[in-house]
Amino acid sequence: MSFTNQEKFSDQPRRWALRGDLLDFTAAPAWGEIEPSAVRFDRDHWLLVEDGRIVGRQAQAPDASWVRKDHAGQLVLPGFIDTHVHCPQLEVIASYGTELLDWLERYTFPAEAAFADPARSRAGAEVFLDALLASGTTSAVVFPTVHKVSAEALFEAAAARGMRLVTGKVLMDRHAPDGLRDDVAQAERDCIDLIDRFHGQGRLAYAVTVRFAPTSTPAQLAMAGALCRADASLYMQTHVAENRAEVDWVARLFPEARSYLDVYERAGLLHERAVLAHGIWLDAHDRILIADRGAQVAHCPSSNLFLGSGLFDWAGAAFNVSLASDVGGGTTLSLLRNMLDAYKVQALRGERLTAWTALHAATRGAAEALGLGDEIGGLSAGQAADLCVWDWARGPVAEARDAVAKALHERVFAWMALADERNLAACYVAGHRRA
Ligand SMILES: [Zn+2]
Repeated sequence: MSFTNQEKFSDQPRRWALRGDLLDFTAAPAWGEIEPSAVRFDRDHWLLVEDGRIVGRQAQAPDASWVRKDHAGQLVLPGFIDTHVHCPQLEVIASYGTELLDWLERYTFPAEAAFADPARSRAGAEVFLDALLASGTTSAVVFPTVHKVSAEALFEAAAARGMRLVTGKVLMDRHAPDGLRDDVAQAERDCIDLIDRFHGQGRLAYAVTVRFAPTSTPAQLAMAGALCRADASLYMQTHVAENRAEVDWVARLFPEARSYLDVYERAGLLHERAVLAHGIWLDAHDRILIADRGAQVAHCPSSNLFLGSGLFDWAGAAFNVSLASDVGGGTTLSLLRNMLDAYKVQALRGERLTAWTALHAATRGAAEALGLGDEIGGLSAGQAADLCVWDWARGPVAEARDAVAKALHERVFAWMALADERNLAACYVAGHRRA
């Protein structure tokens, strides 16, 4: 999809109403509960949108002053929120034969080096955001590259699309190849400049972005912590305890730390706005610390399976868990396909993930964990009209399955397991059609 098409899509009426089966959450569903009161399902209702915001939902058709978009028989959800994904890694998605550390060296770092070129960064950001929207993802927490221009390009492309986006220049000043290292002083100047220009502008927010403990010196981690302390509205994103070889490496690099997570704790990086990707190889102490700090773990099931990283303990998590694609370690931007992978990960652990917990983690749960629950993740009056319309079933197999589904969870679970981005009928961001 080209940017010209985006402009065409953005031509929307000021007041419009969307008819369909409305599904969202009013609270977090309990683990394993098939019929929770937290699920709000209004079959064949109208959602009213004015100036990019939801202003109501009702059973009866609105009066003629509202432009009607009739999606009767289709499913309407809040746009998905992907809490951990790498813009520059689209081109290394589905790369063969490695685990995390070799995968970074062989595939990822060369792809990221290309983003030093501003034109490459800008083109990459536009393709990436359009691909997110085509997957039904309207908000994201994104890693660009170490290059300042890669963060600028993402902010600018997100602003052009009206998207809620959290990102920040990647910090890495060691254990990375030439062309992908910064230094503490320059990195600090770049962060401050990007924060001044983009943080809190429209729907954009800045995340202090530590790639992971091995690629930052203690001095750089301290600088990142100081940035967080200076402004509590900043996010922080990083990776933690993804892979066992990585965990061993961190233990050798930071012998003074009690655990991998403790490296971040000591630097002042764990707080309510911290997004920690993976969190597979955590101990009980780490898990309590994440909950105490109010941080969240972005669970990346497709990536964890593809790279053979491990099976995340979701059922035992007392902290917020959101869902993420982690492309290019993950093999799909579709959070629907990640939900099915998450179900399989839990099945291998002897647990059962309901469609409700999975969907909540990709919508309201992620929004609340990011402190953005008033704006995104639901279909309530006052929230942004970030909406996706989905076909309940596409193709003979899914249609036959959908036709015999009786209870709501049975139907939604089968949809979650069988649907993907091809089921997306329409995607709106702040009331404007974007896919
Ligand atoms: Zn990642």
